Amino acid sequence: MKRKDLFRDGMKSVMKFAFTKTDDVTSAIKEAWSEEKKPPSEIFLTPVKNISEPKKKPKRKNSIFRSLSLPPGASKDFFSLCTGCNECIFSCPYIVLFPVTSEETGKTFPFFDPNAKACHLCSDWACINACPEGALVSYDLSDTSPKFGKAKGIGEHCINGKTGEKTCEACQLACPIEKTVNFRANLPFFATSTCTGCGLCVEACPTFPKAIQISHLSKIKLT
Ligand code: SF4
Ligand code: SF4
Ligand code: SF4
Repeated sequence: MKRKDLFRDGMKSVMKFAFTKTDDVTSAIKEAWSEEKKPPSEIFLTPVKNISEPKKKPKRKNSIFRSLSLPPGASKDFFSLCTGCNECIFSCPYIVLFPVTSEETGKTFPFFDPNAKACHLCSDWACINACPEGALVSYDLSDTSPKFGKAKGIGEHCINGKTGEKTCEACQLACPIEKTVNFRANLPFFATSTCTGCGLCVEACPTFPKAIQISHLSKIKLT
């Protein structure tokens, strides 16, 4: 027999043996799965949780994260009465108010940011008087005053804190409410009971960053 034929016959025998054994192995696997009463294909059809799928972020509510204030005199029913006509915005002589539109409802309401531009608590309440819907209600300042938030001092930014002397009293001079800004160890303190949170002291403070911040009583949610 030629060497080539001898090699071919040898290979045939090896392959025949291998195929026989493969059949045995396949049957053994099938048998094993049938014991578990679960065909092999099911393993691959079982839905697998896609762990790489990015988690959906919860839908952000249209809240004013940088706290804003409603105009002075905002009534309890402000959000149902205000039509977003912007008359109060146009009437403000200090250009304090601005419109904010809710992404969810498309409704627009007037706001202001006392940390950026203060309300001057006008004696004639131009904004309140301009409101045709009664959404803003007039104040008698001798009786009560608006409450937008409250002023808080940041000692490390205050000039007096740096110089150790009463070098500056701009906040006290700017405050329209008597005895609301008082100095202790040269640093200003703000009387919570009388402070309106109007922001006039913030506006007058000459430092950067400002040594006063208006913190809001509550965050407003647009509805
Ligand atoms: S009180 Fe005066 S400054 Fe304040 S929002 Fe009304 S009009 Fe503007
Ligand atoms: S004037 Fe009255 S109704 Fe018009 S936007 Fe101002 S608060 Fe709303
Ligand atoms: S302390 Fe500042 S925020 Fe408070 S009423 Fe006076 S000026 Fe307005």
